[in-house]
Amino acid sequence: MMNIELQCCALFILSVVSAMFLCNKKLDLMNRSLYVKALVICFFCLIFDIGSVASIYLSVYHGLNETVTKLICKLYVMILVAQGYMSFNYAATGIMSRNKGSKILQGVYLCIFFAGEIAMAVLPIDFFMEGREVYSEGPSTSVAYLLAGIYTLSTIGIALACRKQISVRRFLSVFLWQAIWLLAAVIQFLIPGLLLIGFASAFGMVVLYIQLENPSEFIDNETGAFNAGALSLYVKDRYRYERRFAFFTAKINYITDNVDLAMERNTVVRTVKGMSELGPEAVFRISDKMFGILYDDAERMQECMKFLKKRKDAVTDVPAKATYMLIPDSDKLSGPDEFFRFLHAYENEQQEITVADEETLQRMRNQNAVRDMIDLALKEDRVEVFYQPIYNAAKKKFTAAEALVRIRRKGGGIVPPAEFIPVAEENGQIIPLGIRVFEKVCRLLAEGTVQDLGVECIDVNVSAAQFDNENPSKFVLEYVRKYHVDPQQINIEITETAVNKNKKLLLSNMDQLIDKGISFSLDDFGTGQSNLDYFVDMPVVNIKFDHTFTQAYFKNSKVKHILAGMADIMHNMDMKIVSEGVETEEQLKAMLAINIEFIQGFHFSKPVPEDEFIRFLKENNRD
Ligand code: C2E
Ligand code: CA
Ligand code: CA
Repeated sequence: MMNIELQCCALFILSVVSAMFLCNKKLDLMNRSLYVKALVICFFCLIFDIGSVASIYLSVYHGLNETVTKLICKLYVMILVAQGYMSFNYAATGIMSRNKGSKILQGVYLCIFFAGEIAMAVLPIDFFMEGREVYSEGPSTSVAYLLAGIYTLSTIGIALACRKQISVRRFLSVFLWQAIWLLAAVIQFLIPGLLLIGFASAFGMVVLYIQLENPSEFIDNETGAFNAGALSLYVKDRYRYERRFAFFTAKINYITDNVDLAMERNTVVRTVKGMSELGPEAVFRISDKMFGILYDDAERMQECMKFLKKRKDAVTDVPAKATYMLIPDSDKLSGPDEFFRFLHAYENEQQEITVADEETLQRMRNQNAVRDMIDLALKEDRVEVFYQPIYNAAKKKFTAAEALVRIRRKGGGIVPPAEFIPVAEENGQIIPLGIRVFEKVCRLLAEGTVQDLGVECIDVNVSAAQFDNENPSKFVLEYVRKYHVDPQQINIEITETAVNKNKKLLLSNMDQLIDKGISFSLDDFGTGQSNLDYFVDMPVVNIKFDHTFTQAYFKNSKVKHILAGMADIMHNMDMKIVSEGVETEEQLKAMLAINIEFIQGFHFSKPVPEDEFIRFLKENNRD
């Protein structure tokens, strides 16, 4: 009886894994092609394993020519080593980062491999058979065992050394796979009748398949497209092996609120179908409503994207519009991180097509740099509040001040809000930033110093974006309570943009705060299209004339009449006016002449840090 049951069993297992692997659609990942090679070699190895046992049997019992048997045995050990090398290569490429050191290491192993193969080819080999004990022996076989041992131990060693850089899962599977192989080799060495090595190899391929190479894990169930995990893996792979690519995404944006689940599902499935029909390239589902295709060259991507857009534009039965993102050249982005940052940053862009060109990428990089700066400043408490005194014409002293945010650079310099407020408004950092400013203002008021020096109220700016995400009245009241601040001492400045955004929400927030005693001003009046209804039904006590409006008063006689007329109207409505941007004595006089109640501007003081503000009050607010 030939000792080949285990090998036949292994052959069967390997066939099943190969069939499963081949049936599923896959991405052309570099590492995956190494897996295919390992699979093929494992196959040959098993065949020659069986072949060598069979030929030894035939030589011993049926007089087969010994030279033929030795040749087959030699081929077997040579393929066995090739398999060890392939396994090492597969594991090492998946694990090690691609640097010069790892390339040299892989080169060394390749040399060892060739040297070993030549040695095995020229060195003599022998075989032995007695009952179920059957094996090849001699110098050639010893070289095979030595090399197989080196590859296995090296693979385990690399997995251990790089375990911090790789996922636990990859580590465990590579470790398990090699440990099984090593264990089998040891057992086979001790019990020569138990031919385990072939079986262990096949079993290892199963472990790898289940853990690392199972393609169905990367398929989106609903549409059959590749999922976001697959995209992440694929994009990393393309960057890693410097395989330049182009990419485009299409996103569904419903233009009505009543979209039911069935329609949503249908649209998603139709989109994937439409995209699959563009060509053989894989379609990815990146998020619920966003899909993408990766191409080898930009021209083809442009063509397909245009074709898809044309088809989409012809669809009239779905209440949705599509937006597209185009990445014509992956090399323009620094790597997978920036690739996904781009997708994330422009995912909700309103314009129909966003292209990852130099300008857009530069803007994104700037925004990221600013975002990081804000984050760090918040963490390291370098967000400061400057105060600009506001002159009260009736009382002839400074009874108010506007709180203006600044970021202190590590070196001591100051970043003006124009450089970071727009970014913060866009990415939501305005929420923590606004809270920090408000807390600092409350702290100042809690000390009571500025009130003793004549200040009745501090103006705080609140952005439109702060009304969007969070209920602003919540944090305002929280800090007012925490620091025992008199709400009458706080005035909140809002702009038209806030009014435009969500008037109902804004009004309800304002009402809550007004109830508690906080007052409001309408900021930046005279910029944009200052519609009258912005303040007609707004419960604001002050209107702030923007500095461009104030300045225009002195340059343009028509504006002079408009501003004076506006001032009259507002006074008749019992509102008070703050003129911003008053820079000269002459401008001050002119504003006082038309009965503007409050004056703010460089003429009195620019915005200054807290201690300077207190000094200013001490000098200028003497009775
Ligand atoms: P804003 O609310 O209109 O603030 C007045 C701006 O005018 C301030 O600029 C101030 O320095 C400047 N200014 C004051 N007097 C004069 C003058 O005589 N001539 C001229 N040309 N300009 C004058 P700043 O401090 O750079 O702030 C810019 C904008 O940033 C603010 O405009 C406001 O919209 C925003 N901002 C500042 N702090 C905050 C904050 O804490 N939260 C929010 N959401 N926005 C803030
Ligand atoms: Ca303001
Ligand atoms: Ca203003």
